[in-house]
Amino acid sequence: MNQEATSSQEAITIIGSGLAGYTVIREIRKLDKTIPITLITREPGYFYSKPMLSTALAGKKEASQLVSTPSDGMASQLDINILAQTDVSAIQIDTQQIVTNKGSMPYGKLVLALGADQIRLPLQGSAAAEVLTVNDLEDYAKFRQQIEGKKRIAILGAGLIGCEFANDLVLSAYEVDVIDMAPQALGRLLPEKASQELASKLESVGVRWHFNTTIQSIDHQEGGLKISLANGRTLTCDAVLSAIGLKPRLDLAKAAGLQTHTGIVVNRELETSAKNIYSLGDCAEVNGLVLPYVMPIMQAARALAPNLLGQKTALTYPAMPVMVKTPSLPTIVSPPPKDAAGTWKVERIDDGLVARFESGDGHLLGFALLGAATSQRAALTKELPPLLA
Ligand SMILES: Cc1cc2nc3c(=O)[nH]c(=O)nc-3n(C[C@H](O)[C@H](O)[C@H](O)COP(=O)(O)OP(=O)(O)OC[C@H]3O[C@@H](n4cnc5c(N)ncnc54)[C@H](O)[C@@H]3O)c2cc1C
Repeated sequence: MNQEATSSQEAITIIGSGLAGYTVIREIRKLDKTIPITLITREPGYFYSKPMLSTALAGKKEASQLVSTPSDGMASQLDINILAQTDVSAIQIDTQQIVTNKGSMPYGKLVLALGADQIRLPLQGSAAAEVLTVNDLEDYAKFRQQIEGKKRIAILGAGLIGCEFANDLVLSAYEVDVIDMAPQALGRLLPEKASQELASKLESVGVRWHFNTTIQSIDHQEGGLKISLANGRTLTCDAVLSAIGLKPRLDLAKAAGLQTHTGIVVNRELETSAKNIYSLGDCAEVNGLVLPYVMPIMQAARALAPNLLGQKTALTYPAMPVMVKTPSLPTIVSPPPKDAAGTWKVERIDDGLVARFESGDGHLLGFALLGAATSQRAALTKELPPLLA
């Protein structure tokens, strides 16, 4: 490597050790084995698969068993410097410095792979502060500890993560109540009939649904917690898990003066509004799209790595269906783009359901496949237009 490449102007600093941070490092290393890379993270720096958090209970996996590679293994495997348990509190664009709880340091190129926070509803009641969320491995360890030896879990939110946890918990012999403002499960991803199918399948294995309502307060009571719903009903449980959605982590970017919208705004080369600062993953927004899923991160990392090394590369997104990990009724969704004009056509097949969202001229714009129909995933994905050509 030449002298220039080792200077701090060229060195790459990445904030965040989630899938986005680690995948972009892997992609950089495929192209350049020696460029200096520093990874800064609040976490211990281990690598784990976040999607496993909502299926690990039935799989009888403890939090520690979900770590696939510890921090020192990642550092040697990828030949990087990891600053773990290090919190970045500010980015100074003018001087190209970042400020952490362990001191300041310069950056050459900076990647924000900061992820997203679980949204929290402001709730009333003496036990409101005990509501759990699971968004990383530490949360998962705490969740496991809190539900150990308990029986009844209430989940706030019937979206993808809420449904996955509901299925995982009933398969592990918990009693599960799911509460959602919407009239149906996975309301943003599925047409009504498909949603009813999923809800009734999960109901048949024990999930109790409370739609069109929300939690007003959670109070301690003898032997557990009492949930008061907005519809006047009350439920009794031992723990409450909130899974009502994610909001990209924007504070650092906003304070540094970077352009933000729903996410940190980046162009097709994944560059933010500030020179030499890039972003990807759950915190980033490209072309109005914030896609907090694994496949978009893989695509973004493949485009970002060459850009960081000076080879201009534009991000593209093919259609990227998402698997909903509900083993009681496997489900795959590729929702139509927001505001797409068209209609859902739903067909029941043996042990499954196919829902196609078609434009007026019959082009497939989205789909949902349930049960046996999930075998059609590859064929239908080929028919879909790319999300970002
Ligand atoms: C329970 C669950 C199940 C899921 N299942 C699926 C699935 O089946 N399929 C799918 O496609 N997607 C799934 N997802 C979504 C997918 O896991 C995420 O899109 C992905 O893991 C996000 O990776 P990320 O690196 O962008 O963010 P994160 O994993 O959140 O990483 C962010 C990193 O930034 C660090 N950080 C943030 N701020 C700072 C700071 N100021 N200083 C230092 N470090 C900081 C954090 O500590 C963390 O290391 C699931 C998500 C959850 C929660």
